[in-house]
Amino acid sequence: MIIDAHCHLDLYPNPFDIANHCSFEHLWVMSVTTTPSAWKGTLKIAEAGNAIKTAIGLHPQLAHERYKELSLFRSILPNTKFVGEIGLDGGSMFEKHYDKQLDVFRNVLNMIKQGDPKVVSIHSRYATSTVIEEIKNINGIPILHWFTGTKTELKQAIDIGCFFSFNQGQLSTNKGIELGQIIPKNRLLTETDGPFTKINRDTVYPWNIPNCYNTIAKLWSCTEPEVETQIETNLSDLLSQVGAR
Ligand code: MN
Repeated sequence: MIIDAHCHLDLYPNPFDIANHCSFEHLWVMSVTTTPSAWKGTLKIAEAGNAIKTAIGLHPQLAHERYKELSLFRSILPNTKFVGEIGLDGGSMFEKHYDKQLDVFRNVLNMIKQGDPKVVSIHSRYATSTVIEEIKNINGIPILHWFTGTKTELKQAIDIGCFFSFNQGQLSTNKGIELGQIIPKNRLLTETDGPFTKINRDTVYPWNIPNCYNTIAKLWSCTEPEVETQIETNLSDLLSQVGAR
C-alpha cells in the first residue's frame, strides 16, 4: 500500500478528483489541515475512501492570525485520532510571531494530553530542538514531517519515539540521505506535502510516492517492493500504538 503521511488535499485546485484517484489506487493518506476552520470542508474530501484520514491542524505559519480558532480546535479534536499540521517555524519570515506560535503549539499539546492518544504530524523548520523539547511527553505518536534538523537532533528525536515522514525533495539532497541513514528502518514513512512540493516544476501527487522508493531501497539495500511493505508495516505499528486504524 502506498502511504502519504502528510498531504494537504484541501489545497489542491481539484481536491475531490485527487481524493477519488487516491481511493481508486488504494492509497493511505493523512490529509492534514492548516486551520481548524478548514476541518469541515476537508472532512468532506475524505468521503472518497476510508483510507483518507483527516487531521485537525493549526499551522505555525498561521498561528498569529488564527489563534482564535483554538476553541474550534478543541471542539473538533475528540472526533479524530489525527492531528496536523502543527508545530513551530523559526524561519526569518515567521520568527517575529514565534511567541504566538509557541503559545498555540503548547495549547494544542495540552488539549491532546486531555484526551485519547493521537497521531501528530509536526512541522519543525528552524525550530527542531524546541519542538523536540516540547513533545517529549506527547500523548501519542509524533511524526516529524520534512525533518531538517541536525544529526544530533535527529538522534534525540529517535530516542523520544518519533517517526519521520520523508518526501522526494528531501531524498534528493545529500543531507536528506545522510539523515535517512540514521533513521531506524521501522520509523520511516513517506509523504508528499503536496501540493507545495514540486519536482522539476511539476506538482507532486500522493500516487507519486513510489518515486521515493528507489532512494530508500538504496539506503536499506533492499528492493522497492520491500520498501513499500516496510513502510506499510511501520504505519500499521504506529496506528496500533494509538489504537487508530
Ligand atoms: Mn505541510
